[in-house]
Amino acid sequence: MSAICLLRIGELELPLLNHLRTHLAQVFQIPVVLSSQSLDPVFSFHPERHQYHATELLARLAQVENPEAWRVLGITAADLYIPILTFVFGEAQLGGRCAIVSLHRLRQEFYGLPPDRPLLEARLLKEALHELGHTLGLVHCDDYRCAMSPSHSVEWIDVKEARFCPRCLSRMLAPNVG
Ligand SMILES: [Zn+2]
Ligand SMILES: [Zn+2]
Repeated sequence: MSAICLLRIGELELPLLNHLRTHLAQVFQIPVVLSSQSLDPVFSFHPERHQYHATELLARLAQVENPEAWRVLGITAADLYIPILTFVFGEAQLGGRCAIVSLHRLRQEFYGLPPDRPLLEARLLKEALHELGHTLGLVHCDDYRCAMSPSHSVEWIDVKEARFCPRCLSRMLAPNVG
């Protein structure tokens, strides 16, 4: 129970994960490790939507053995959905152990724009903080700069900062942070 464990769901670029590892470790003051295991998301694919069911992936992620993991964050390039929404950037077990984030709609290319690596890294970090925040018992925050403010589009992510506001920090179930 001593580390945040990053687990790949499908193929992913290693440098992107290393950037995330470094910054998550700084925020949470806990080791962040890349799991040697990975998950194939194909079982959660919805052929008509051409997307992957986030809740099914999250349930499968929770079954992966990770005895050393304090929290498990699944990361995927797949486009995620839940049935009531067009898409989700991620999903988490509120107050639980597992969360997932998707890169798919964080890339500028998705919107027909040129790739922007620093922007992608920043968005991924903010969404990882957001979903991990849910696992630490946090609900959505009305401070638009806080990582726990909800994001319905990348523009909302871009105005957030890669940190938790003082109120969220004080409520977080994380002894090392704040
Ligand atoms: Zn949320
Ligand atoms: Zn907040």
